[in-house]
Amino acid sequence: MNPLGTDLGIYIHIPFCDHKCIYCDFYSIISYENTEMYHKNLLREIELRSKSLFGRKVKSIYFGGGTPSFMSPEYIGAIINKITKHFDLDKEAEITLETNPGTVDKSKLIEFRKRGINRISIGIQSFDKDELKFLTRIHDSEQAVNTVLQCAEAGFDNISIDLIFNLPGQNSAKWRKNLEIAVKLPVKHISAYSLILEKGTILNKMVIDGKVKMQEEDIDAGLFEETMDFLGNAGFPMYEISNYAVPGFECRHNQGYWDYNDYIGFGTSAHSFVFPRRSWNYSALTFYNLHSENKDLPESGFELIEKEQMSDEYIMLALRSRGLYTHTYSKLTGRNFIEEQKKFLIKLKDSGYLTINGDLIKLTPRGCLLADEIIGKLV
Ligand code: SF4
Repeated sequence: MNPLGTDLGIYIHIPFCDHKCIYCDFYSIISYENTEMYHKNLLREIELRSKSLFGRKVKSIYFGGGTPSFMSPEYIGAIINKITKHFDLDKEAEITLETNPGTVDKSKLIEFRKRGINRISIGIQSFDKDELKFLTRIHDSEQAVNTVLQCAEAGFDNISIDLIFNLPGQNSAKWRKNLEIAVKLPVKHISAYSLILEKGTILNKMVIDGKVKMQEEDIDAGLFEETMDFLGNAGFPMYEISNYAVPGFECRHNQGYWDYNDYIGFGTSAHSFVFPRRSWNYSALTFYNLHSENKDLPESGFELIEKEQMSDEYIMLALRSRGLYTHTYSKLTGRNFIEEQKKFLIKLKDSGYLTINGDLIKLTPRGCLLADEIIGKLV
C-alpha cells in the first residue's frame, strides 16, 4: 500500500496519429485501421486490472497519445463509463483529453464534453508558420487559435496548450511572440518544453546528418528564464519546471505523478505504478492486442522500486514541481532528508537557490535555472 494514500490517476494511451512529427518519440501509429479492435482491448484491460484495485478512488483520467481526439466521442465515453463501473471515479475528477489543432471542431468538442471530458490539452507547439513547418505539424497558426476558441465556445473553461521553445534559430523576440499570443487566448494552463533531441527521432537523424543545428545551452537557459518571467507576470506562475497555470488550474493528473501517487496506464506503452511496483505495457500494437484478446495483462515488464530509487525519484519529482515535503520523504523512505543533506541545503539556501519553510523545501526561480545540476548533487 502506498504510504502517501490510495488515490489513483488513470492514463489511457491512444496511439493513432495522422503522421509522425520529426521530434516525437512517443509510441504512435500512422493508421486508423485498428481503432475498433484497440478500443475493445482497452475496455478489456480496464476490467482485468480493476480486479486487484477494487474500490480505489480515481481522482483523474488523462487521455494522451498519439492523438486521442481522433477517437469518436462515443469511444471515449465508453471508456469513461467502463472506469466508472469498475473503479470509484470521484465526482470532481479531472478528465483531460489531448487534441491537436485541425483534428476537432466545435460539435465534436461539445460531444466530448457531454461524455465527461472537462479539460482539454492542445498540442499547438508554436504560432509561427516557419516553426510549425519545421516541426512538421499539420496545422497552421490560424487553426491553432481557432481550436482554442472553439474549445472555449464548446464550454471548456480548463484549457491547456503545449508550446516548444529553443527551436533552431529561435531568438528571444520570436519566442516572446508565441508567448504573447498564448496569454491573450482563453487558456488557463501553458506547458512550455524546451526542444529535446530524442534518440530514434527523425530530428535526431537530421542533426547527425548535419541538416539541422541545435541551439547552445545558454540560449536554452535564457529562453527558459524569459518564459518564467513573462508567464509569471501574465498571471501564469510556474508550478513545475515546464508548466505554468492560472492558480487553481494546475494539472491535477500530472501533480499525482510528481507527488509519487499510484497510477495505472492502459493501452500500448502505458506505464503503471502501484506502490512499490512499476510496470509497462507492450508498445507494439500487435503484442498488445494479442495479450488483451487472450485476457492476459498486456505487460512486457515490471520492477519493484527499492527505497534508494524511491528517494532519488521523489527528490527529483518534488524539486521540479511544488517542492519536497520532508515528512513525505520520511513516509516513503523512512529517512530524514534534512539530516542527510544538511550542509548542502544550507549552502543552497544561503546562495538563494532554495527556500526552507517548515517542512517544505522548494527551489527559487534562480534555483530552477540550475535544477538539473542541484538535483544531480542531491540524488
Ligand atoms: S501528433 Fe503528437 S504524438 Fe503524434 S507524432 Fe506528432 S508529436 Fe507525436
